[in-house]
Amino acid sequence: MLESPLILSDEPISTYQKGAYIRLQHVKKTFDGKQVLKRLDLQVQPGEFIAVVGRSGSGKSTLLRLVAGLEHPTSGNVSLDGEEVRGIHHETTVMFQDARLLPWKSVIDNVGIGLKGDWLKRAEWSLAQVDLADRKQEWPSVLSGGQRQRVALARALIRSPKLLLLDEPLSALDALTRLEMQQLIEKLWLEQKFTTLLVTHDVSEAVRLADRIILLEAGGIAMDLYNRIPRPRRHTDPQFAS
Ligand code: ADP
Ligand code: MG
Repeated sequence: MLESPLILSDEPISTYQKGAYIRLQHVKKTFDGKQVLKRLDLQVQPGEFIAVVGRSGSGKSTLLRLVAGLEHPTSGNVSLDGEEVRGIHHETTVMFQDARLLPWKSVIDNVGIGLKGDWLKRAEWSLAQVDLADRKQEWPSVLSGGQRQRVALARALIRSPKLLLLDEPLSALDALTRLEMQQLIEKLWLEQKFTTLLVTHDVSEAVRLADRIILLEAGGIAMDLYNRIPRPRRHTDPQFAS
């Protein structure tokens, strides 16, 4: 039997116990009278890996920033595990296109930034997760872009997030490094099952990583589909390689 290369359906694949449950109800967002999101409704199950795709300017980052607590809806409601998001939540971590490391702090100090108590061992563990244990004493400036993003990922991991928000974190990387980072993000997600919301303009990246893909268009969700490609195939099938 011939298998379709891209299998999308409207049936959920599975849900997991860990991770945050995201709910947006009738969310509107305007900037200076300009409506960016129009009455958006969305529920993301605990542990789900959801990708948000759409053209530049379609409101993807705005949606992510609302979930992150970095923006507030003009009307409507955003909640995590049933609690309204009013600011940055301690179990939420965000990664942007640039790693946003502090240049005057070492790699390991960047990972532990803002943490109190005895975080050194956990920072070493986090750096080992992203394969940078041997670079812990170096300055961010000597690392490559991909390595800096791995430090940002370690900085997220040390916080044991229930929710990982990724705003085009790989789009500035070269194709091979991007592929390595995709595999790393997937490995960590498979191990830890935090809810993950990935904003990307790269549809192939969404198909490769996410269990569910939504398309933002004209301020609303134009498409909401589940990805049926078996997970191990996503990285090994040459059809999906960069
Ligand atoms: P995307 O991430 O899909 O490219 P954004 O969410 O960044 O889109 O932006 C959607 C629209 O909202 C754009 O027209 C952008 O100019 C506008 N916008 C986003 N943030 C602000 C802001 N802080 N002030 C004014 N306009 C904004
Ligand atoms: Mg954006």
